[in-house]
Amino acid sequence: MATYIVLLGPPGAGKGTQAQIIAKEFGLMHVSSGDLFRENLKNQTELGKLAKGFMDRGELVPDDVTIAMVKDRISRLDCEKGVLLDGFPRTPAQAEALGEMLKGLGSKVDCVPYISVPAEVLIERLSGRWTCPACGRVYHEKFNPPTQAGVCDADGGALIQRDDDKSETVERRIRVYGEQTAPLIAYYRNLGVLAEVDGTQSIEEVGKLMLAAIRKVA
Ligand code: ADP
Ligand code: ADP
Repeated sequence: MATYIVLLGPPGAGKGTQAQIIAKEFGLMHVSSGDLFRENLKNQTELGKLAKGFMDRGELVPDDVTIAMVKDRISRLDCEKGVLLDGFPRTPAQAEALGEMLKGLGSKVDCVPYISVPAEVLIERLSGRWTCPACGRVYHEKFNPPTQAGVCDADGGALIQRDDDKSETVERRIRVYGEQTAPLIAYYRNLGVLAEVDGTQSIEEVGKLMLAAIRKVA
């Protein structure tokens, strides 16, 4: 049966960083809703144009379009063995929709590693984040620098800083997380699938804690 893992945690907690390690380890497809939106933005699709204003302001893109986009992605053949969801669900309505969809497939969310990190640490992480737009790899100028500044270790591409990692938007995103996404911690705890991980540890240490949590269920 396919395995479905949801990575939960505030912006900057380390979801994308850990997703790369975990997806490989368990042979799952890494599906990041933020990356899907950024792809649509780059390709100037209707969805991208709609999402842009919300993303620039650090607000959530409306549930209906977000749910449709993710459903479409995880129904594809390359997701057959299971998916590691990163950045979705982010609202109770999204969580309900995901649950319903997986039920229809005879599956469910198997495990929700929740990476907890206090707000002041998040700001420092997001303001030093550099991303490779080609392969999605994530770096930090201080905590996880590339071998050569500004260049992706994996594919040699030029790294960029995301517009929404600028300070006013970062604070908004952290607030939005607290209001709209944090309720999912209790939601998944009630379903008995939450595994809280201390995200203030080093990238390596957090990775070990996450793998241990997931191995118990997946
Ligand atoms: P998210 O996907 O949750 O928004 P990222 O994985 O993009 O978070 O990480 C945010 C930033 O913090 C990146 O610059 C990343 O290199 C850095 N980072 C991730 N995990 C850690 C960690 N455990 N310690 C220090 N920095 C980290
Ligand atoms: P981070 O992990 O740093 O918060 P993401 O790349 O996950 O950033 O998301 C960037 C932006 O994309 C969000 O601020 C939001 O506007 C939009 N977005 C991503 N995922 C969702 C979602 N599940 N629901 C609504 N909006 C989303």
